[in-house]
Amino acid sequence: MYRKVVDYAEQPLEKMYGENSFSDAKMRERLPKSIYKEFKKVQNGDKELTIEVAEVLANAIKDWAIEKGATHYTHWFQPLTGLTAEKHDSFISPTADGSVILEFSGKELIQGEPDASSFPNGGLRATFEARGYTAWDVTSPIFLKEDNTGITLYIPTAFISYTGEALDKKVPLLRSMDALNKQAMRVLKALGNKDSKKVITTVGPEQEYFLVDKEYFEKRMDLVLAGRTVFGAMPPKGQEMDDHYFGQIKDRVAAYMRELDYELWKLGIAAKTKHNEVAPNQFELAVIFGTTNVAADHNQLVMETMRRVAGRHNLVALLHEKPYAGVNGSGKHNNWSMATDDGKNLLEPGKTPHENMQFLLFMTGVIKAVDKYAPMLRLSAANAGNDHRLGANEAPPAIISIFLGDLLSDILEKISNGEAAKGKDGVKLELGTDSLPKLPKDLTDRNRTSPFAFTGNKFEFRMVASSDSISGVNVILNTMVADVLKEFADELENATDKKAAVEKIIKDAYSAHKRVVFNGDGYAEGWVAEAEKRGLPNLKSTVDVLPEGKTKEVIDLFTKHGVFTEEELVSRFYIYSEKYSQQINIEANIMVEMANMQIFPSANKYAKQLADTIKSVKEVLSDADTVEQEKSLKAVLNNIKGLKEGIAELEKLIIDAQNTEGEYEQAKFYREKVLAKMEEARVYGDNLEKLVEKELWPFPTYEDLLFRL
Ligand code: ADP
Ligand code: MG
Repeated sequence: MYRKVVDYAEQPLEKMYGENSFSDAKMRERLPKSIYKEFKKVQNGDKELTIEVAEVLANAIKDWAIEKGATHYTHWFQPLTGLTAEKHDSFISPTADGSVILEFSGKELIQGEPDASSFPNGGLRATFEARGYTAWDVTSPIFLKEDNTGITLYIPTAFISYTGEALDKKVPLLRSMDALNKQAMRVLKALGNKDSKKVITTVGPEQEYFLVDKEYFEKRMDLVLAGRTVFGAMPPKGQEMDDHYFGQIKDRVAAYMRELDYELWKLGIAAKTKHNEVAPNQFELAVIFGTTNVAADHNQLVMETMRRVAGRHNLVALLHEKPYAGVNGSGKHNNWSMATDDGKNLLEPGKTPHENMQFLLFMTGVIKAVDKYAPMLRLSAANAGNDHRLGANEAPPAIISIFLGDLLSDILEKISNGEAAKGKDGVKLELGTDSLPKLPKDLTDRNRTSPFAFTGNKFEFRMVASSDSISGVNVILNTMVADVLKEFADELENATDKKAAVEKIIKDAYSAHKRVVFNGDGYAEGWVAEAEKRGLPNLKSTVDVLPEGKTKEVIDLFTKHGVFTEEELVSRFYIYSEKYSQQINIEANIMVEMANMQIFPSANKYAKQLADTIKSVKEVLSDADTVEQEKSLKAVLNNIKGLKEGIAELEKLIIDAQNTEGEYEQAKFYREKVLAKMEEARVYGDNLEKLVEKELWPFPTYEDLLFRL
């Protein structure tokens, strides 16, 4: 039924957009001019925030929040769980006469102490000094959230230990943006750019998700507790008809999406595109790109809002990478580019030879970085859920490669062969024409099988896990590109003939790293062998790739650019190893419970039913042919036996896993032994689902979960 969330004729979209965000426009309106100007400098990184300015800001923010009905504020941060964290404080301050006044100080705005000692820290903080503090990220807009707790003022913050270590996902992201800014500016300056003051990285994530009816969801212990099904037979119909992808959106889903858009727009999040995805009941939402740290905050809010709004429609939004075996899983496409503060996209092919030279230089920088640090990039997409996707025939393979398109590859190839014709000014890297041939967007974006594709004016990294924060991947992208740009800048700054130097850099870098460029079908059989021949790493699972996060090369990279200390990298290795084990441990235990408490009782009931049938038929007709019933009964009994044995072995392995010393060794054990056994045992459970009478089956099937909405 059509339910109006809001009438945009009465409440125009451009007016309601961002009403719950303390946007730049609101700041300009509500702050004294001098304070506004001062704060802009702080946001640009040109000045430190003084407590005096913070006081004025806090006051203006408080007035706005209270006018809108807020009672609490929270420092909102992103610990290493991948989720967000918050603790709400009210604005009240009691007075002597028993009433209250509402207060919010500059100090409360800029710094908080969540006393959050229970978040994973990988040994960075001893518990006796378990306090970290939160510090306001002045570049990410403050916002109001309306939910059942009331209306709360949210302050995006970074979470840092008292000794300065990053305990969250935002601190390294901000550091990596600084690193890239520094090196990209050096390159631009060396190329003679006098207009730009800053380079930012821009990100536009596309978020995939599933919707499922809440009633069915609640009956699936695995979905409730782990976000993915550990049992489930394929229904007679899967995704083979391709009738869902970009299909008409069902009414119930459309109503959900409409409300989701509304909630996001209120927060000032630029939700742009929505459509059906490949798998049944799978969808996608893309927002318009923005500065990376804001995009990361917004993506967290998109995921939270997806979940919350779903509840109002008796739906559940599943963000897990692989809720169902046998149909496509969910990913996140991280569209990434670099831009100057005066609005130039550095990955936009230019209109003049000079711009093109610059474009090709930055382009080559990205290619080199991706080849050089491919294992790190692969690591940024690794989690237990994504292991079910990457490398299966639905998502990019676990091999990192770049799609450039034939046109661009050809240009770079020619330059690297020294074939580039030079014009009279000697600048023409672009083969004797005055500008690059135009790269039509639809030409560059045809290859959907590439994990890292150039799509006209940005790169699209398609491996990212759907449930993950996008911070991790962008920390890595920013830092590895910064590192290559540093090398370029070192060379350029020392060169007298800049144009010759650029040409040489492109030539050398492309020749050395073009092995990572692959324009073919990433899903094709031959690619794995071909990639191996080229020496490209194929790191199949999380445990294969975790150690790549603390190799000497990686530690050098991140410490050189001040993004991570060695301790921070090592702590993350432990945290993510442990997280992996915990995830598989939960899934394995769910499997044991579902088998013992749900599948066996149902299967036994059905076996008895069959036996009773055979017996009573024979009583009436002693020579009755019950061969088929006996066959069914035997099949049921065989599968019960198989599952019983599998589950018994699984239970033993869980104990062995729990007793395994060492975070990483434990994760490896979970992957190699526990997960493998789960997959083996599952087959018997799924066979039983197909044998046992539907009425007796203890939980909703894939058909219910995937097709009924
Ligand atoms: P697709 O073909 O993948 O659907 P779109 O043009 O719809 O491509 O863009 C996908 C995403 O890329 C959107 O979120 C969009 O805002 C984002 N995007 C576009 N330009 C840039 C850029 N320069 N930097 C980062 N993201 C960008
Ligand atoms: Mg895309």
